[in-house]
Order: sequence, then structure tokens, then C-alpha cells
Amino acid sequence: LRDDVVERIDIGGKSVKADYFIFATGDKRINQTFLKIAYEDFGDRLLTDTALFLPLQYTDKRKQFHPYTVARTMRHGWRWITPTFSRIGTGYAFSSRHVSQDEATRDFLNDIGDTSLEPRVVDFKPRKNPQTMHKNWATLGMASGFLEPLDAPGLTLSVSILRQRIVPYLMTIHQQKTQKLPVTQKESWLGFERAKYNSVISNLVDFWAAFILCQYKTSQRSDTDFWRDHKAVEWRYYEDTVANLDKYDSMVEQTMFHHTMSAKGATWPTRQTLEPMKMQEPKFPSRHHLDIIEDLRKQAGFMPVGLA
Ligand SMILES: Cc1cc2nc3c(=O)[nH]c(=O)nc-3n(C[C@H](O)[C@H](O)[C@H](O)COP(=O)(O)OP(=O)(O)OC[C@H]3O[C@@H](n4cnc5c(N)ncnc54)[C@H](O)[C@@H]3O)c2cc1C
Repeated sequence: LRDDVVERIDIGGKSVKADYFIFATGDKRINQTFLKIAYEDFGDRLLTDTALFLPLQYTDKRKQFHPYTVARTMRHGWRWITPTFSRIGTGYAFSSRHVSQDEATRDFLNDIGDTSLEPRVVDFKPRKNPQTMHKNWATLGMASGFLEPLDAPGLTLSVSILRQRIVPYLMTIHQQKTQKLPVTQKESWLGFERAKYNSVISNLVDFWAAFILCQYKTSQRSDTDFWRDHKAVEWRYYEDTVANLDKYDSMVEQTMFHHTMSAKGATWPTRQTLEPMKMQEPKFPSRHHLDIIEDLRKQAGFMPVGLA
């Protein structure tokens, strides 16, 4: 790494040269040790930092294989229950500042109803990368930063940052190559583009962090320090976002807050009020999604290997 330019990287004994690198290695160490990026710690606004997780086997698949994730409050965090085709993924995201790992494990296994299980543990420290894009490289996904599993923003953020920020920047670099401008002018133009994209990305991450924080602040639970501390978090960006929801140009942001929170009866200091979204009764005879998936799998069996 020289003057914010990565010239080549060594992978598995091979030296790779490229014009532009995107680091999506899932590991925060690449940022800290190789790329020397300092994260902004979000641990003062999002309090969970550790997760226990394990797969469960189905005992009654037709009942348990629901097409949504359940996020259930626990004493010092929350538990997810995510059915996939072959198993049920479940985990407990908790705050290590509020409960020991042993106690969290006991709570988690009691909630599952099987104390013989041995969950795995991951520590994820909520953090933001304040500068995703650099002169000829960017970091993406977990390598770039992580908020927390609630609302599952990981893949959404990665895909939108890649498509709407990194790819346009690469196209700008490409266009510039064909333009006969002085080098200094090209560099200042690219610098301007990078700063613009970095600021948009940083705002996007803040927005998601505020949305997640909102779930805690509007939770009806306050029986432990974890829930009380989460409700007491003070973050100016959050307060401004909530107070100015009706000023967002796009309905997406407003809908995210209003629909999810209005279902809990939360009120907002904004002009706009939305009713919680109501599930419509299906207009056509409906089938259990397990039957639909099984049909698709059967059909896939007739496809040539590779497409199945
Ligand atoms: C508890 C928990 C729950 C989560 N739940 C969700 C969720 O519900 N929804 C969601 O969207 N996100 C979730 N996430 C975030 C999720 O993990 C990421 O969205 C997603 O896995 C990020 O992908 P990634 O490519 O950044 O990292 P990873 O999935 O870690 O992939 C990185 C890959 O890079 C490879 N690699 C590393 N170094 C090298 C190298 N030198 N050369 C070649 N390859 C290399 C690794 O082997 C790995 O395969 C969760 C995270 C945690 C911690």
C-alpha cells in the first residue's frame, strides 16, 4: 500500500496486479493490519456484540418452516429463528457488557428447550468504516464493517454499496482514462467523486444503525439493564432522523420506520402518520410454501446437472 494505492496483493503464493481491488474477505483484520483503517465504534449506540448460534433439526417441518425470521426479545439481547429448507438456524445476539457468555448460553439453551446443545460463538463488535472507497480500492461486506444481525442489513448494504457507489466510481475511472485531461485535474475529479460516495455510504450505514436502534427504543421490554440502557442511548443522528422522517425524498426510509414501528403503536414527531401495513387475505387458493419448494425441487431433478 503506497499513497493510498494498492499495487498488488499476494494470494496463495501468487502475486496479483490489478487496476482496482475490492476486499470482501469478511475479516476485520485486513482493514486494521493491511489497509490501516480505523473503524468508528458503534458500541455506544448498538449494545449487542456477541452471538451464540446453532442449527436445529426440524421436528414438525410443516409447522416450523415459516417463511420469515422470528426476532424474539431475550433478557440481554434477542434471539433469531430462521427456518431454511434443511434446518432451523437460530442464535442469541447479546451484550457481553450485560451478561456473561455462560449465563447467555444457559438462557439460550433454556429458551430452545435442550440444555445438551453446544452453541458456537461469534463476536461482531458493531463498527462503521468511515471511508469505504480509496484511490484504487474499496472494502465491502464484513471486511468493511458490521452493525448487528437485527434487521439483517448486511447483504442489503453490501449489494447497494457495490451497485450504486463502487461500480459508478469504477466507471468514472474508466471514462477518465479516455479523456485528455491534465493528471492533476483527473485526480481532483476522482477525489471529489470518492468523497461524495464515501459520505453517501457513511450516511446509509448511519441510517440503518438508527433504524436498528429504533427497534430497541420502541420495544415494550424494560425489565433488565440491557433494555433500559438501550432505550437510554443518546444519538443526535437518531433523534434528527426520527424527527425528520417526512423530509426524506424516498418513501423507502419513511416506510421502513413507519410501518414497522406503527405496528407497535410508536408515535413520531412528524407530520406524517401511517397505519401499520395489514396482511391481505389471499385472493387465490394458496398452497403451503413447503409444497411449492418441494415441487420446484422435483422439477429441478429433471434438469441437467449444473442447472439443478
Ligand atoms: C451473528 C451474525 C448474523 C448475521 N445475519 C445476517 C443476516 O441475517 N443477513 C445478512 O444479510 N447478513 C447477516 N450477517 C452478516 C453476514 O455475515 C454478511 O452479510 C455476509 O456473510 C457478508 O459476506 P462477506 O462476503 O462480507 O463475508 P464472508 O461471508 O465472511 O465471506 C468472506 C469470504 O472471503 C474469503 N476469504 C478471506 N480471505 C481470503 C483471501 N485472502 N483470499 C481469498 N478468499 C478469502 C473467506 O474464506 C470467505 O469465504 C450476520 C453476521 C453475523 C455475525
